Amino acid sequence: MTFKALLLENQPAFSARVADVDQAALPEGEVLIRVSHSTLNYKDALAIGNTSPIVRAWPMVAGIDAAGVVESSASPDFRPGDAVVVNGWGQGESRWGGLGQYARVPADWPVKLPAPYGPFEAAAVGTAGYTAALCVQALEKHGIKPEDGPILVTGATGGVGSIAALLLARAGFQVLAVTGKAAEADYLKRLGAAEVMARAEFSAPGKPLQKERFAGVVDTLGSHALANACAQVKRNGAVAACGLAMGMDFPASVAPFILRGVTLYGIDSVYASRARRESAWALLAERIAPADLAGIVKVIGLSACIPAAEEILAGKMAGRYVVDVDR
Ligand code: NDP
Repeated sequence: MTFKALLLENQPAFSARVADVDQAALPEGEVLIRVSHSTLNYKDALAIGNTSPIVRAWPMVAGIDAAGVVESSASPDFRPGDAVVVNGWGQGESRWGGLGQYARVPADWPVKLPAPYGPFEAAAVGTAGYTAALCVQALEKHGIKPEDGPILVTGATGGVGSIAALLLARAGFQVLAVTGKAAEADYLKRLGAAEVMARAEFSAPGKPLQKERFAGVVDTLGSHALANACAQVKRNGAVAACGLAMGMDFPASVAPFILRGVTLYGIDSVYASRARRESAWALLAERIAPADLAGIVKVIGLSACIPAAEEILAGKMAGRYVVDVDR
């Protein structure tokens, strides 16, 4: 039996295409998932565009996220019909991923979707939104409260940034959204941003310590944006760093950490424990209603993933793509 998937190959040269692949070729695992929805994250765009060495085994079914229902399970933890999401774990990198109609995974990986989410909502949130939840949980666990001051969110129109802004605004935080897309100010305000700031303000080298402005930061950019954000965090505040859309470098000094007690949390969603995943998904389902997600997603089919990946890499995308893998 075959199924449709977005297949990446490197012989004779790199190619990305929708192909019929053999179900028998799926990797080993206890849980077979009939995937209905996936998404396009920044990392997927890098893999589909072949602009970074994301894929480490060939041929590869792309997609770091898979959402659907369990078709069969050799694990007592899952039953046929359970709605589940699988984020990360090397899917779409070293193991076949979610941009296809079937996925087979180890029983440790899927998370049962909390009501009212189904596979569509899980894909709308995706790894980006689940990572945003891990970032927000790091700041809240640090003890930051709305009365402590505003939270800066960088790359705000992106997947992580959009969901972080929504999660924070819903909890009563004042969100300062940093974007390179001035035209998307209304979109960011609809997400709950109190203020929209120009990315240019954070893009150039800055002083090691600057005026204290933010109680916390969710940073998706790295490089000068992360360095400037750290330099402007209030005493004992915290920064959750998850991304590198501006750069992998971190041209900063230790001054904010040793002179203001600022804490820098690194966020890795790929290999987070199941307990952290379940807690992050519970937070998402509690704070973001399906109707809120419908307003920030665009639904596409498998073949449209290739031009959409180019748009993401060009930094032109606002919001999230949901991929209906049956389209
Ligand atoms: P998106 O592509 O959806 O958003 C990234 C945003 O960053 C863009 O919308 C844009 O926002 C801004 N941006 C894009 N290109 C540049 C650039 N060259 N310089 C500065 N800003 C830029 O990506 P995601 O939100 O899905 O991911 C954001 C980052 O987080 C990525 O680096 C991704 O790899 C990382 N990530 C890490 C995870 C982890 O586990 N640590 C998990 C998920 C993502 P705007 O125009 O509003 O400024």
